[in-house]
Amino acid sequence: MNRPPCRCLLRETGAGYAETVYRYIENLPAEEKTGPEEYRKRLAVCVACRYLRDGLCTACGCFAEARAAKKRMHCPMGEERW
Ligand code: SF4
Repeated sequence: MNRPPCRCLLRETGAGYAETVYRYIENLPAEEKTGPEEYRKRLAVCVACRYLRDGLCTACGCFAEARAAKKRMHCPMGEERW
């Protein structure tokens, strides 16, 4: 049965490729990675955002968790978000 897209992170979608994305995040060099507290804050903004669909940021096409995991990246809708 198909379900409608949800405003949720990849980990909540049950998508088969989620593991690959999480492995990618895990293997980011430490110096490029967002700190845990900042990461948590970024994802809290994403889950409240209308552009999040099934873990994907529809504003930029990135997996939100992967984008947020990179320190140098910002929200495509403005740095005031994160
Ligand atoms: S990265 Fe920005 S635009 Fe994309 S889902 Fe997160 S808060 Fe929304």
